[in-house]
Amino acid sequence: MANDDQFKKVISHAKEYGYVFQSSEIYDGLSAVYDYAQNGVELKKNIRDYWWKSMVQMHDNIVGLDASIFMHPTTWKASGHVDAFSDPLIDNKDSKKRYRADVLVEDYCAKIETKIEKEVKKAAKRFGDAFNKDEFLSTNPRVVGYQEKINSILKRLGQSLEKEDLADVKALIEELGIACPVAGSKNWTDVKQFNLMFGTKLGASADTAIDLYLRPETAQGIFVNFLNVQKTGRMKIPFGIAQTGKAFRNEIVARQFIFRMREFEQMEMQYFIKPGTQLKWFEYWKEERLKWHKSLGLGEENYRFHDHEKLAHYADAATDIEFRFPFGFKELEGIHSRTDFDLKQHEEFSGKKLQYFDHEDNASYTPYVLETSIGLDRMFLAVFSNALVEEELDNNTTRTVLKLPAVLAPNKAAILPLVKKDGLPEIAKQIVEDLKWDFNVTYDEKDAVGRRYRRQDANGTPFCITVDHDTLEDQSVTIRHRDTMEQKRVKIEDLKDIIKAEVDVKHWLKKMK
Ligand code: ATP
Repeated sequence: MANDDQFKKVISHAKEYGYVFQSSEIYDGLSAVYDYAQNGVELKKNIRDYWWKSMVQMHDNIVGLDASIFMHPTTWKASGHVDAFSDPLIDNKDSKKRYRADVLVEDYCAKIETKIEKEVKKAAKRFGDAFNKDEFLSTNPRVVGYQEKINSILKRLGQSLEKEDLADVKALIEELGIACPVAGSKNWTDVKQFNLMFGTKLGASADTAIDLYLRPETAQGIFVNFLNVQKTGRMKIPFGIAQTGKAFRNEIVARQFIFRMREFEQMEMQYFIKPGTQLKWFEYWKEERLKWHKSLGLGEENYRFHDHEKLAHYADAATDIEFRFPFGFKELEGIHSRTDFDLKQHEEFSGKKLQYFDHEDNASYTPYVLETSIGLDRMFLAVFSNALVEEELDNNTTRTVLKLPAVLAPNKAAILPLVKKDGLPEIAKQIVEDLKWDFNVTYDEKDAVGRRYRRQDANGTPFCITVDHDTLEDQSVTIRHRDTMEQKRVKIEDLKDIIKAEVDVKHWLKKMK
């Protein structure tokens, strides 16, 4: 299936099976704002819990926080967001469409990358088992040429953005001959900076109301609470503060479904460390976060690191964990060495000391910060798009399956009476009653059992449990596994343990070790 088609399928499946709806759909929707429906809200919650468990519960030196969305407006002066939280935008004069200039260039590079992937596929076919991908990538002249071209374009883009040389960003777009994807024209305006924060007002009367921002990241709520948490929790460096919550950005290009939203949720952890140790911790958290992703089994080949050429004003090292979305490799999570920039800025703007007294060194210092920041909605899209597959079956039919990691699936099991009579629904409902203390389970009696299996496959439910006439005699049921379609006869009393073995967080998170 072409990638575009796959992505369209992902979006329509998310709607049809109650995962994601466009916000205010009856009013024709609101651009880049989405609602999570009955299944989506469970999947999202399970991803959030999986992250929270691995961060907070599994680390005795990381604690949680839930800071408000509204913050004192000086916060955003101090953090640099008022002056510097902007994206370079460019308009096409013919289509009147607006784009992020850096994204136009990156998309151009992604196209060259697709050419590399095609060459790799061709060569893999030609050389068969003898194919060595790394060697091919580093020696094939055409591929090396493509890669050099990508590197030099991205380097120039990074440098121009770093120097705020927006004229050169436009020159680069023109030199590469990038055309508007809608109009096909190369009639571009100059590149301008555009601040991404949403403003609002606090207070009832027009004279006294103060200007506020909706937070564009959750991190600042952690920085301003750093000393409160450190003192009340008697935390010793190194220690972390983790938080999940909404963030808001007035994105210029809001396409690609829940990949880029104007209201979204972040899961961030700020790790407070001794100055000078930041590179060690940077490497540590890079590896740790990649292990977390891999523990979910979405395919190791679908991740890669992308080190930043252009560092944000607060960072001395930064990398993205990129994931292979249906539209190519894109940022899923950022890992940033933020130095002491934020704490120092808040010290300066608030006039309050934000230092840590190190008993071992008998000295005070402003800690450095290592940040891991992942978008919950992006993670949702990664999991969901990776899970949706169309499978050819032996009898020449196909089935649509949502192979969600069982630990994240909204419903862990569907309990199905074979027929709606002879006491089978009563037994099935009793099984639901017993299991619902431990798992989210659902009851389904409508349609033939084969159709119900298909429905649950498409819903992502890892197990179907069928109650039939033999159950009346032997207190056993048939348990069917979503991915293998294997069916087994098991005792009703064993169901809980069988399901638990596959959906338990411990079983999955242990893979990180
Ligand atoms: P991008 O380059 O894609 O705009 P970013 O580098 O600005 O992202 P960060 O500020 O590092 O992103 O935010 C951390 C994480 O928050 C990102 O890795 C991403 O998963 C998520 N995120 C950022 N912006 C959005 C958005 N508009 N919609 C959904 N998730 C987002």
